[in-house]
Amino acid sequence: MAAIRPVALVTGASSGIGREAARAFVAAGFEVVGTGRRTSGLTPPAGVTYVDLDVGSDDSATAAVAEVIDRFGRIDVLVNNAGIGSAGAVEENSVAQAQNVFNINVFGVMRMTKAVLPHMRAQGGGRVINISSVLGIAPQPFMALYVAAKHAIEGYSESLDHEVREHGVRVLLVQPAYTKTSFDTNAAQPDTPLPLYAERRRIFDEVIAEAMNAGDDPAVVARTIVTAATDKKPK
Ligand code: NDP
Repeated sequence: MAAIRPVALVTGASSGIGREAARAFVAAGFEVVGTGRRTSGLTPPAGVTYVDLDVGSDDSATAAVAEVIDRFGRIDVLVNNAGIGSAGAVEENSVAQAQNVFNINVFGVMRMTKAVLPHMRAQGGGRVINISSVLGIAPQPFMALYVAAKHAIEGYSESLDHEVREHGVRVLLVQPAYTKTSFDTNAAQPDTPLPLYAERRRIFDEVIAEAMNAGDDPAVVARTIVTAATDKKPK
């Protein structure tokens, strides 16, 4: 079935920024598909269709995009929002933790983008909005894995944008600052905590928690995402 309205696919729409972005796309007149690993049992925001997706899996990414194309016939906007935090000193982070963070925050973006690009080219254009972070352009001690992953997304997105522009596709970055979501509680924790870092980590965790409590409302970030996707400021 071909959709009459433009179609937005938002990953990580079961909570936080993604959930608000899904709502904001509905308000902007889009047909909206929101994804997450734990959508079953969750009530989607009005106007949003939920599809299960683990961005950490090739098969899941391919299946989710195929399902959206099957149902709506096109994807005008892909928002690569799904992501996890990662805490701990570099010495405390195992290679497995690094692989997990990169598998979701970097390879997840790449999987979804690769799956969607042929459809955007075939339909004559589209937008990929990648949710980076202020930590995509700045350092942050005790979050090196997360920072490295977001820096990777910056280079990937800016390079890809130049590759696909001639096909009518733009790849844009949104870099939120601290935002009030469950991001912090969902962050991967160090596998092998070391006493020598414990005190500085405790202080650091407190500062981050305070910054998040005082941070932006996810609805504000959501409006920025819709602006990046449409060039129009939502009401
Ligand atoms: P939340 O933890 O509230 O939301 C994260 C979302 O990602 C959830 O919907 C979660 O859904 C989804 N997700 C996590 N892992 C996977 C996976 N493997 N496959 C599919 N979906 C997954 O955090 P935020 O809303 O804060 O984070 C959203 C994005 O914003 C992230 O990319 C984050 O890096 C970025 N960001 C956040 C900031 C903040 O201060 N909050 C600041 C800057 C950037 P489920 O568990 O159902 O899979």
